[in-house]
Amino acid sequence: MRQIPMIIDCHGHYTTAPRQHEGWRNEQIEAHKAGKPPPPRPRMTDDEIRETIAGGQLKVQRERGTDLTIFSPRAAGMGHHLGDARTSEAWASACNELIHRVCTLFPKNFIGVAMLPQSAGVSPKNCISEIDRCVSEYGFVGINLNPDPSGGHWQDPPLSDRYWYPVYEKMVEHDIPAMIHVSAACNPAYHTTGSHYLNGDTVGFNQLMTSSVFKDFPTIKFIIPHGGGAVPYHWGRFRGLAQDAKLGLLTDLVLNNIFFDTCVYHLPGQQLLAKVIPVDNILFASEMIGAVRGIDPETGHHYDDTKRYIDQLALSAEDKAKIFEGNARRVYGRLSSMIEQSETAD
Ligand SMILES: [Zn+2]
Repeated sequence: MRQIPMIIDCHGHYTTAPRQHEGWRNEQIEAHKAGKPPPPRPRMTDDEIRETIAGGQLKVQRERGTDLTIFSPRAAGMGHHLGDARTSEAWASACNELIHRVCTLFPKNFIGVAMLPQSAGVSPKNCISEIDRCVSEYGFVGINLNPDPSGGHWQDPPLSDRYWYPVYEKMVEHDIPAMIHVSAACNPAYHTTGSHYLNGDTVGFNQLMTSSVFKDFPTIKFIIPHGGGAVPYHWGRFRGLAQDAKLGLLTDLVLNNIFFDTCVYHLPGQQLLAKVIPVDNILFASEMIGAVRGIDPETGHHYDDTKRYIDQLALSAEDKAKIFEGNARRVYGRLSSMIEQSETAD
């Protein structure tokens, strides 16, 4: 019997992939620099993959009482600033294939989200065939969209620009949301997970709220991870900015299209998120075995065991069920049918 509600973690990455996977990536980039073709892809057996999951994300799911993780390739490893469009295409394809293998081995526990073959300065049109492939062949339910493929130099147009519209059109066509998610920073001013990630979240939100994207794509959906970066804490600032710019009420402007995950690693942060952002716009997530892996000496529990914080919020059971399950099913339009498929697969 599954728990009620189902606990859906909408933000997990395959950070424990077999070592030869990342090893090949290093060889691929070295070969690119030397002007040579990449070596053949390494072999990874099902048993090797099973082992990395059974001792990693699946173990953590069981310990923490979560049911399903929406799972994508390691975000810092996307490295869209490395190589060129061709290396990005080969790497994204390899990473997505590996996620598909995990989801096939553990269909009840993992459902895939695609990494895109983005490349700094290259039109995201080159991502379209990979999106189609991941949705139709792999049953993936979303994408991670990097607003800064240059890795901390912000050289590409903002998300408000029509430059990104080919991706938005595909998202609407397939009914898949995008999580706004940067990759590793190559600018030494930024720490990848400390400032670049939170900055990427905040920048992405701000670019979208001042854009016509939601007028042009009324049903499109974005998830701002890491609790929304600085956004919930500074909600008053964004409300005021929207007002000054005569954009109308911020809630009207963004809340049909923008959602926030709960990757905030302490209770006061979760309390603030739940107080500021309507419960319909919050999706449970932990990013387990990710950026912050330690145990909080103040609580004795892992910082990224975010379910504990939600459990402690002064919300009704109905509201918590939305955060844990209902909102994810609504935002990821293809999720329920994928869950149904995995349940009837026995
Ligand atoms: Zn992430």
